[in-house]
Amino acid sequence: MNTKETIEIFEKYVIANYGRLPTAIVRGEGNYLFDAEGNKILDMFPGWAVSGIGHCHPKVVKAIQDQAAELLHIDNTFYIPQQGKLAQLLSERAFGGKSFFCNSGAEANEAAMKLARRHTSKEKYKFITAEHSFHGRTFAAVTATGQPKYHDGFLPMLPGFKYVPFNDVAALESAFDDEVAAVMLEPIQGEGGVNVATEEYLGEVRRLCDQYGAVMILDEVQTGLGRTGKWFGYQHYDIEPDIITLAKALGGGVAIGAMMAKEDIAASLVPGTHASTFGGNPLACAAGVAVIEAIEEEGLLENAKEMGLYVREKFAALKEKFPIIDHVRGKGLMIGIQLTADGAGIVSKCLEKGLRINCTQQTVLRFMPSMTVTTDQIDQAMEILESVLTEENEK
Ligand SMILES: *Cc1c(COP(=O)(O)O)cnc(C)c1O
Repeated sequence: MNTKETIEIFEKYVIANYGRLPTAIVRGEGNYLFDAEGNKILDMFPGWAVSGIGHCHPKVVKAIQDQAAELLHIDNTFYIPQQGKLAQLLSERAFGGKSFFCNSGAEANEAAMKLARRHTSKEKYKFITAEHSFHGRTFAAVTATGQPKYHDGFLPMLPGFKYVPFNDVAALESAFDDEVAAVMLEPIQGEGGVNVATEEYLGEVRRLCDQYGAVMILDEVQTGLGRTGKWFGYQHYDIEPDIITLAKALGGGVAIGAMMAKEDIAASLVPGTHASTFGGNPLACAAGVAVIEAIEEEGLLENAKEMGLYVREKFAALKEKFPIIDHVRGKGLMIGIQLTADGAGIVSKCLEKGLRINCTQQTVLRFMPSMTVTTDQIDQAMEILESVLTEENEK
């Protein structure tokens, strides 16, 4: 089936709730994609950060193949060895604590919010989240998402949510009261434009949560599992959250979500309080274990850090030539390029030339290559981007 035939089938049978690029992808290998016509595309935004160690990483593929032949699914009525192993690997790399597994980022955040309410006293029910945040599309997660465009047409949202400007300590302080169950934030806002939390801000979030007896939740669905150069985004800061949520890169391409909580808080999720049929199944957890092992065996945290610096150097040079580049922000391989004009056209032009990047909030290009990216691949991407920017300049 070629791209044209695929698009025709979509038009007939698939709900059109996504704006799609006009290319059908049939294969992925490392940092490259191949479309139905056999064109090769350099992928600097692999699977929206899901393919964090590249497409079809051989260790992940092997783990999935082996596990598929052994046991695909078993319900949580039983103990599941791969689930236990993944929870252990996560705990040893985070703040200790215990994990609950589900299938997506939104579900992980739902679990975090339910746990925060259950763990805190009865009068605490409010959630404080940030403007420009993104927490997913289920009802509580989208309510938590501080962007009115995602609420449009779905009102009323769930009660009890307050939105504050990101990185604004005074606003957070005045939003706090004894009824707050939790604050939920991304350490680096992804979809909101790659906005990095300041050291001072997360320090104050921690202090205020302690003062009021509220739970500090960090949504690490995008920052988690190494992209920033550390396992978790919060590890760039001098604080520990009470709960983190993970998904995207955790399964190396297989659907999985996780909520990790400190042990005393985790204890509030007793049998009957929360569950997920597919959550923590052997296949997804075997993939997760393979992802963590691959990151360690191949030194990918270090590579994410180094390649992040390399990309920034390249952009510093590009900025001198192209005034449309205002500045670059982010950590490791979570990189946002603030433009002075709309970036959607640049994204489609890059794709025509065989490079995939992304644009969010209209004017922020996102460069989020996999942690296996090489300097050669970055050079190749910069060359394509530069040729597109040159063409735009000449218009
Ligand atoms: C992608 C994302 C989510 C939602 O994850 P889904 O798997 O699409 O539900 C939540 N939070 C952040 C920070 C994300 O980037």
